[in-house]
Amino acid sequence: MKVLYDAQEIARAVWRLAFTIAADHRRKPLVLLGVLKGALPAVVDLARDLSAIPDGPSKIEVEYICLASYGRSTQSSGEVRLLLDTRLPMAGKYVVAIDDIADGGLTMQRVRALIQERGPARLRTCAVFERTDRRGSDFSLDYVGLPVPGTFVVGYGLDYREKYRNLPYLAELPPELLSQEG
Ligand code: 5GP
Ligand code: MG
Repeated sequence: MKVLYDAQEIARAVWRLAFTIAADHRRKPLVLLGVLKGALPAVVDLARDLSAIPDGPSKIEVEYICLASYGRSTQSSGEVRLLLDTRLPMAGKYVVAIDDIADGGLTMQRVRALIQERGPARLRTCAVFERTDRRGSDFSLDYVGLPVPGTFVVGYGLDYREKYRNLPYLAELPPELLSQEG
């Protein structure tokens, strides 16, 4: 597989995100809201980086929401299904929703709609990776890490049919591995 970003490059990008998020949330109660399953490594790494930054958030809570596109393989269906909701109260909290990759923006728009009505003090959005050509989407995220070209990518939380989430790097999935079962 062609590696786009190795583990160290991702770590540096996540550190930069943590630094910016910390600066925007000094002495504020922060909720890191991970969008499962893809954001799992990002949330863990961000949460640890944030705790190493002095004068950051007054408190860091971690919460998850699980959303999935109806589509199964490499094409989003355009529909986002809520599989698991949050339990932590969002009212009065400074929430940063975190996804693995921002593409068309539907996932984050759905998160925003769900969380906004629960009365957070503020809701911001973050993705470790962002598609450079975002299919004409005008939805922009507050914090973005590394650009990714139009190809389908896996690793660092991103899967193809539940495989490759465990890879510490981000790689292009070669076409010959597409639609191969197992
Ligand atoms: P959006 O809702 O912004 O259109 O798409 C974001 C979601 O689509 C991400 O949470 C991710 O699950 C999925 N996605 C988009 N591009 C890729 C990709 O290149 N690889 C993988 N594995 N998932 C992707
Ligand atoms: Mg996802």
